Amino acid sequence: MEFVLASQNKNKAVEIENILGEGFSIITMDETKAKGLDIIEDGETFEENALIKARTVAKITNLPTIADDSGLCVEYLGGAPGVYTARYAGEGATDDANIDKLLGALMGVPEEKRGAYFACAIAVVFPDGEEKTFFGKCDGRILEERRGANGFGYDPIFFAFEYNMSMAEIPMEEKNKISHRSRALSEMMKGLKD
Ligand code: IMP
Repeated sequence: MEFVLASQNKNKAVEIENILGEGFSIITMDETKAKGLDIIEDGETFEENALIKARTVAKITNLPTIADDSGLCVEYLGGAPGVYTARYAGEGATDDANIDKLLGALMGVPEEKRGAYFACAIAVVFPDGEEKTFFGKCDGRILEERRGANGFGYDPIFFAFEYNMSMAEIPMEEKNKISHRSRALSEMMKGLKD
């Protein structure tokens, strides 16, 4: 079965194809009529944003479509930055600017109040209107300073409980075993094969 991934990211498509295994193939939006499409993600939750992207691309392509949306939720900040994770320090913000803003917002906040999680929602929308959503989460806390050089985004300041290391200190292969994205993907795999 062929799915469109509502993303321009070819690496994500390969990652998903590997996880789903035989019988499934994934093409990116750029290989379809939806090429270059700029979708406004104005949902209030990760799930809503994933559904907005998947519905839009499924409608244009008439093909089953997968979309994901992820971000970081910090307890002390009432779940922020949440759906604003990528643009926390402003539209087009760099990872460094986002990290600095978050460290500033948590300045002086003690360790026990720095709990946080990465979340990932995946939506699958079929041309007949059927919709399925899946969720994955990874628990940790926000460090007081950066640690490690792997990964991307907020990885250097996210201390993952399962490894007792920052996400940027964990080798990529290990991160993929516990990440919010890989967990949502394995839920999706179970859900699609049912
Ligand atoms: P996206 O929805 O996958 O594009 O993720 C939105 C934003 O969340 C990214 O721009 C990153 O800042 C952050 N993010 C998502 N996944 C990760 C991760 O695995 N590590 C660090 N930051 C992440």
